[in-house]
Amino acid sequence: MRRTIFLFILVLHDPLFAQNKDSIALKLASYISVEELKNNLHVLASDEFEGRETGKKGQKLAAQYVAEKLKNFGVKESYQEYLLKEKQPGATHFFVNSKAQKLYEDFYYFPIDINSKKVSSKDVLFLGYGIEDSVYNDYQGVVVKNKTILILSGEPLDTDSVSIISKQKNYFHWSDRMKIKKAEEKGVKLVLIVKSDIKAEAEKNKHRIESPSMVLKNRNKKPTVIFISEQLANQILQGKTQIEELKTKINKQAKPITIEVNSNTEVNSKQSDTPVKAENVLGFIEGTELKEEVIVISAHYDHLGTKNGKVFNGADDDGSGTVALLELAKIFSEAKRQGFGPKRSILIIAFSGEEKGLLGSSYYVEHPYIPLQKTVCNLNIDMIGRVDEKHKNNLDYIYLIGSDKLSTQLHQISETANSTYTKLELDYTYNDEKEKNRFYYRSDHYNFAKNRVPVIFYFNGVHSDYHQETDDVEKIDFIRLQKRCSLVFFTAWELANRTERIVVDKQ
Ligand SMILES: [Zn+2]
Repeated sequence: MRRTIFLFILVLHDPLFAQNKDSIALKLASYISVEELKNNLHVLASDEFEGRETGKKGQKLAAQYVAEKLKNFGVKESYQEYLLKEKQPGATHFFVNSKAQKLYEDFYYFPIDINSKKVSSKDVLFLGYGIEDSVYNDYQGVVVKNKTILILSGEPLDTDSVSIISKQKNYFHWSDRMKIKKAEEKGVKLVLIVKSDIKAEAEKNKHRIESPSMVLKNRNKKPTVIFISEQLANQILQGKTQIEELKTKINKQAKPITIEVNSNTEVNSKQSDTPVKAENVLGFIEGTELKEEVIVISAHYDHLGTKNGKVFNGADDDGSGTVALLELAKIFSEAKRQGFGPKRSILIIAFSGEEKGLLGSSYYVEHPYIPLQKTVCNLNIDMIGRVDEKHKNNLDYIYLIGSDKLSTQLHQISETANSTYTKLELDYTYNDEKEKNRFYYRSDHYNFAKNRVPVIFYFNGVHSDYHQETDDVEKIDFIRLQKRCSLVFFTAWELANRTERIVVDKQ
């Protein structure tokens, strides 16, 4: 009831919502074919494609498949090649005051964070929580370039154990990864992060610790990162003070404390990097009037590959997005053939490297096909073929993430496209900044958002097959996949054809 009234009022007062159905758009959307979604996904998510792991045979096969389809649709297709390095886990030793420390008891590390064969320093700078925030800043007035810093995990807490930054209990805005990124920006050489239960943490992260990981090739200035126990941190502090004491003090005064100690540290690693080559696949449909402006529609076609002889087919993640992308390429190309080509250009991008850390899109935003200033927005599809537990009684839904973060108009256009055509339940649960899963940061659109290009991330939520070998094509709901694909289309159609480019009006 409330919903009906809400829409009714908007129709009367807001011209943006007073949209009539566009018969051409309706006709084009009707070409999104369940049969073709099925056929394509049966190929891409088959064992023959070996889980489409970036840099491996399966990814190359998938790239070829996508490129050939684009070509058949009459879309100008191209490969964007980029170089990566795979970091293989290898013996890494950590010394404090010349004493070798025990892996998994005193410290652990991720292969991705070992960025040099040898890092050593004579001094260690205790830098509180390693946070730079408006309400609390450990970096203020401190020189950290080329230094070794020792920081706490988490955020300062008030007397009720509520974070003074996130303003929540048991939730920190500043993850370890964010702190590492900040240290990287500041030119820190070695980051030591104190964990209260090192053994449990190492156990929890064992898989990532013992698996190879990938980074873009030309990323050299990253600091090396080691996670250490509180006992080891206390040794580094040489009895001058204790970690617990420092934590209590900082929490109590809600102000940073920095201390420099003359402890020497050294990281020695035999870890090696293997060069890897990967491709994004691009399809360009030139606009008819405002051709220099582009709407980027994307999905990642890579997945996890094989493990212990089992193929991770990634039918939902993100085979579903990839086949939707192909249908969208098809109908935009068809629109042009029928003389209804969109005013603005459409760029279809099938990214690789997503599962390795959004690497394909990270490369793309630094080497864009059309300059980012001319990129109106990015509609990113990642997992739209399944129904999660929450919606098992209301299948016609989709989670939207990011739509209102940079552009009010983008959000309105998306809402209107849905209320006019697809009428799905738009679930914004994961759009909440405080939501713990932080999905906004977890797919390729984030690399666009970071560059102030407005984005919408289309997502069906998680399920028990997420990142499991059981994410198979038999479990895909193709009707839902088609409907969600239509929503992306109607939104893109309006964005591409409206007279004025949408405005970026938010921080
Ligand atoms: Zn994904």
